[in-house]
Amino acid sequence: MPIDPSLPYDDNNIFARILRGEIPSKKVWEDDYAFAFHDIRPQAPVHVLVIPKGAYVSWDDFTLKASDAEIAGFTRAIGTVTRLLELDTPGYRLMVNMGGHGHQEVPHLHVHIFGGRQFLHMICD
Ligand code: 5GP
Repeated sequence: MPIDPSLPYDDNNIFARILRGEIPSKKVWEDDYAFAFHDIRPQAPVHVLVIPKGAYVSWDDFTLKASDAEIAGFTRAIGTVTRLLELDTPGYRLMVNMGGHGHQEVPHLHVHIFGGRQFLHMICD
């Protein structure tokens, strides 16, 4: 079920628990602003999620409330992770699902990185 992005941040959402180390994850990268880990149900040969360290429900929440330093740090971390995964030369796809129409399921902002194969034209189903 998609989330209701107007609800306040839930400290017990699954990604908050991953950030606190209460639930295991396959970590790819971490710095002051971001944590990256493999998606539990990969949709591509490489499927990594990058989440901000701060408590932001969604892309909308993040772009409204995060500081310039957090936005810069998070954006730069995504680039660091894609290069670490050696996706920069073959290329990759980024995706953010936001709210109900976006079918966002976890109420902590996450950017999907897909890579490791040729993608076709974008399909929105
Ligand atoms: P959304 O639809 O919210 O954009 O995507 C949520 C993503 O989180 C899905 O791709 C799903 O497989 C992934 N996910 C959900 N629960 C877990 C978990 O406990 N661990 C990891 N690594 N990924 C999860």
